[in-house]
Amino acid sequence: QERLKRLGKDSDFAPRHVHVVGAGVMGGDIAAWCALRGMQVTLQDQSVERIAPAIARAQTLYTKKFRGDRTRVRFTLDRLLPDPEGHGVARADVVIEAIFEDLEVKRTLFAALERRAKPEAVLATNTSSLRVEDIASALKDPSRLVGIHFFNPVAMLPLVEVVDGPQSDPEQVRRAAGFVRRIDKLPLPVKSAPGFLVNAVLGPYMLEALRCVDEGLAPETIDQALVAFGMPMGPVELVDTVGLDIALAAGKALTGGESEPPRALVSRVQAGKLGRKSGQGFYAWK
Ligand code: NAD
Repeated sequence: QERLKRLGKDSDFAPRHVHVVGAGVMGGDIAAWCALRGMQVTLQDQSVERIAPAIARAQTLYTKKFRGDRTRVRFTLDRLLPDPEGHGVARADVVIEAIFEDLEVKRTLFAALERRAKPEAVLATNTSSLRVEDIASALKDPSRLVGIHFFNPVAMLPLVEVVDGPQSDPEQVRRAAGFVRRIDKLPLPVKSAPGFLVNAVLGPYMLEALRCVDEGLAPETIDQALVAFGMPMGPVELVDTVGLDIALAAGKALTGGESEPPRALVSRVQAGKLGRKSGQGFYAWK
């Protein structure tokens, strides 16, 4: 408890520039949040067309936060720069990766990022289900990599898990936690274990809800029950928010592939129904 309260508080690390790779659900929202909290941010994606919607989402967030004050919205947006070529890596104090949940793709990316980043920059992955050490072994210096695991939706959830891989340099973990404090989030130190802490608890809860869908219960019935119980959001709606593909990959990682994933989840992922981000999941969005 004491360590949790202290983590990152005594940090003299004063990052100014954050480079985010991946402008999808998480990367876009992480970049938007960091700019809101005063960081210079560059946002990279291999698909250039992913960057503009992320910046539009940031604009919506800032308009809400600043109650329509256009000058403040504009100033904040000016700190968030599209960077399809990734030039910002070389200037960044913190580099956060939020690309597809694929080990080989992440390994290739980090090998390239390490070559371009400043030697003292914190290199972090936002992975939900991969082991930090498995990504880190692609680096010349694996001790540089830590996990900085945000939750979705980034602007609403204060907790951020700081993943201390077995190969991570403690100083990098400390700096990562200091960065998390600087952007007004609460760092929770966790070891590199399946699901870290929050998803290790939440994962089985969400999968069980989807098994109820397999057994014929309506998503609305399950969600209404859990909301009436006191949860802020039902578990099926939560899966739609997280993304069905992400939930499927995370479920496999958590169970070690030992149990069959819920049929209702697999069939929707195969049909491209990925939840809120694709407009359709267990629910229709917009
Ligand atoms: P997403 O599919 O919405 O976005 C991924 C983005 O990465 C895409 O825009 C894609 O074009 C880009 N990309 C892929 N490979 C790239 C590369 N080599 N270089 C540059 N860009 C590349 O995915 P997401 O839901 O934002 O998840 C991203 C990461 O965050 C994953 O590791 C996931 O496990 C983790 N995460 C997701 C959630 C969630 O709720 N969705 C929560 C916490 C963590």
